[in-house]
Amino acid sequence: MKFTFTTLFPNLIEGYFQDSILKHAIDKEILKIEYLNPRDFSLNKHMKVDDTAVGGGAGMVMNPQPMYDSLDFLKKQDANAHIVFLTPVAKQFTQNDAKRLAKKSHIAFVSGRYEGIDERVIEEYADEVFSIGDYILTGGELPSLVICDAISRNIAGVLGNSDSLSIESFETKLLEAPSFSKPKDYRENSVPSEYLKGNHSKIRSLKLALSECKTKFFRPEQLLKHRTRTSYEK
Ligand code: SAM
Repeated sequence: MKFTFTTLFPNLIEGYFQDSILKHAIDKEILKIEYLNPRDFSLNKHMKVDDTAVGGGAGMVMNPQPMYDSLDFLKKQDANAHIVFLTPVAKQFTQNDAKRLAKKSHIAFVSGRYEGIDERVIEEYADEVFSIGDYILTGGELPSLVICDAISRNIAGVLGNSDSLSIESFETKLLEAPSFSKPKDYRENSVPSEYLKGNHSKIRSLKLALSECKTKFFRPEQLLKHRTRTSYEK
């Protein structure tokens, strides 16, 4: 899978791929990361990429010309590149989107800066638009990294143990049961004793009960969906 980050600030992104799981995936040639900087395509003699908003309003807007030219270049290189714009107003990205997009061969993220990108660029080139939450960040670089990371975990070979994917939160309506590590006693806090007895069917039942408790606490609406579904299945 190839990811292209279209950004005025590639330095903000590069560091993330220099360590841990995604670096290993790049070393194993499962992932390939490229950058496209619209500033390199600017026809302005000072390489400007932004201007004041037509019709007034505070702040600067990213000009169409460097964006059109950089995205034309991208499309010429790979007509199948799936172009994803990051914008706070779009649908929120979910785990289902991560799984669906993991099947693509090339995803190009387009990050806005300042007050955002001229709307005509989004209309012309976006295959999809995503937000990562109802808050405003200074740019699309963090959202594109968040989405890239979530997609990458679902690509075969990226995670050492892909079994961990199937039990994670958001794979089912229930959140994942609490996890514990060694030692079993630490600062007067012990792990649940049932976890230590080796009876796997009892451990499974306890984990299910704990998953339900956790879901009830953090995501009560999800628990309702889980209960409706399991009673319907019976
Ligand atoms: N003026 C825009 C608005 O009010 O909708 C916000 C622009 S924001 C300061 C600049 C850029 O950051 C956006 O073009 C987008 O690429 C990115 N961005 C900011 N918050 C985001 C979020 N929650 N999800 C996805 N992208 C975001």
